[in-house]
Amino acid sequence: MATDSWINETLYAAWGQRFRVKRELARVQSAFQDIVVFESETHGRVMLLDGVVQITEGDEFVYQEMITHVPILAHGAAKRVLIIGAGDGGVLKRVLQHRGVEKAVMVEIDGEVVRLSKEFLPTIGGNAWDDPRAEVIIGDGIDYVRVAPAESFDVIIVDSTDPIGVGEVLFTDEFYANAARILSQRGLIVNQCGVPFMQADELHETSRRRAKSFPDNWAYLAAVPTYVGGFMTLGWAAKDASCRAVATDEIRRRAQASGILGTTRYWTPEIHTGAFNLPPYIAENLPGA
Ligand code: SAM
Repeated sequence: MATDSWINETLYAAWGQRFRVKRELARVQSAFQDIVVFESETHGRVMLLDGVVQITEGDEFVYQEMITHVPILAHGAAKRVLIIGAGDGGVLKRVLQHRGVEKAVMVEIDGEVVRLSKEFLPTIGGNAWDDPRAEVIIGDGIDYVRVAPAESFDVIIVDSTDPIGVGEVLFTDEFYANAARILSQRGLIVNQCGVPFMQADELHETSRRRAKSFPDNWAYLAAVPTYVGGFMTLGWAAKDASCRAVATDEIRRRAQASGILGTTRYWTPEIHTGAFNLPPYIAENLPGA
């Protein structure tokens, strides 16, 4: 039954969205952030961190499929994947769908996000938490990349909060320099870069920083309904520019071999290759575009 209780997202000072709340499930102040999980009338269960929507059961597939399948299939032979943030478990689940992945290390700073996600959003991570190929570390991503051995990962996926608060360190020169160091020869990194119509500075600034450590820098698109304001961008930085140029048929062949073809609701081989085509208002934020 509908209530008259609403939750407002507080991401932008002068514009936003609100959800009618069926039921509040959790409200916790962790050591790092304010965490709220509630049941919405329209999007299933929703998690907010510091008032910002992180994930909804209704549209999480868009974001998770695009932040995971694009880099792994573009690389083509990824065995070791590092995930930073992503405490809800959705990226871990998608990474482990790939048959060729032998090891997925996930480093999430806030154990409370993991605990609450397991309890209230169990379908998002599914069985991934118990997969023998998964290692879940509660710690700061910046500390992890400082000490990880050189060339120890093929793909890094940064599913972080925005560059404010605890997520800020994941957008620094130091982070990207270490990411380049711990990636193998054809390694690549993707990260969430916000909605450029509203957060153009975020894309511009982080792309400029990634370009100091990686020869191939770009971004690709996903239309995530709850990240309001038009396309969101996922930042892309690779050691080998050929990863971005893999043809649609080859992506389809790789998806078939890895076991993900036919399992997705947003990602397709055509969406994969098309997502690198950027509208000028977004491309103008990238170095050298
Ligand atoms: N899909 C979401 C989005 O784009 O809005 C992100 C969701 S995910 C839950 C973001 C996670 O990044 C949070 O759980 C947060 O605790 C984690 N995080 C933020 N800063 C971090 C850091 N320095 N190291 C590791 N994890 C971090």
